[in-house]
Amino acid sequence: MKMFELIKDQIKNFKKIAVVTGAGISQESGIPTFRGKDGLWKNYDVMKLATIDAFYENPKLVWEWYNERRKNIFQAQPNLGHKAIAELEKYAEVVVLTQNIDGLHQKSGSSKVLELHGSIVTIKCSVCDYKEEILTEISDFPPYCKCGNILRPDVVWFGESLPQKVWQNAIVFASECDLMIIAGTSLVVSPANTLPIYAKQNNATLIEINPESTEMSEEMDIIIRNTSAKELPKLVSLFRTNYD
Ligand code: NAD
Repeated sequence: MKMFELIKDQIKNFKKIAVVTGAGISQESGIPTFRGKDGLWKNYDVMKLATIDAFYENPKLVWEWYNERRKNIFQAQPNLGHKAIAELEKYAEVVVLTQNIDGLHQKSGSSKVLELHGSIVTIKCSVCDYKEEILTEISDFPPYCKCGNILRPDVVWFGESLPQKVWQNAIVFASECDLMIIAGTSLVVSPANTLPIYAKQNNATLIEINPESTEMSEEMDIIIRNTSAKELPKLVSLFRTNYD
């Protein structure tokens, strides 16, 4: 297995670090991932609930699912993986490119977080421009906007476009970084899964932290087959000791 020690001598050369994260980084905070054994909810396939078609077909059902996720996410705390990423800012310019909608990177102190798939905390109108952060529970599903149309979570569903400005900024940083850390993502969701390619084109070093192999494992310079809360602190301690 390729280990962090391989980059020990390069640590001080890493000036721009992109951290690409997915559901797996929040798994140790008690938030289930989509794929794998936790990917079922009351016998519904979550991949089929996170679509605009599912929403219009049964907004009440989709809202009930999001409400459970919201409750769980509001209670969740950042784990050692999120915290390690926040600490990395002491040593380099760091931008977190996350597919997560849970806000835990911000909660752990990361200052530059690009939410590629939106946020579960924010609610928006399915038709007009209304958008608001709502930190309390929502009752009566589906909720309605003042304009009379249905409100929805401000997340990107399968088949929808990413927020264009956020995505453009993500591509720019991925293309400029000299180290990309990819943690807790299966790299199957497009276009987020193309970010490592931009980094590779810049000859960046690619590190994957994931207990399972992914679509792009073969492209990685370093692969750590363990959980992010266990491994990210070890990676960051390499920075700490090299900068002390
Ligand atoms: P995914 O569910 O497809 O894959 C999760 C990956 O994390 C898997 O490769 C798995 O092996 C790995 N993993 C599981 N536990 C881990 C751990 N402790 N440490 C490191 N890796 C671990 O998730 P994805 O790639 O993010 O893509 C699916 C979509 O799911 C995204 O669009 C995202 O918005 C959404 N999602 C987000 C959350 C969240 O915000 N926390 C939760 C569920 C799903």
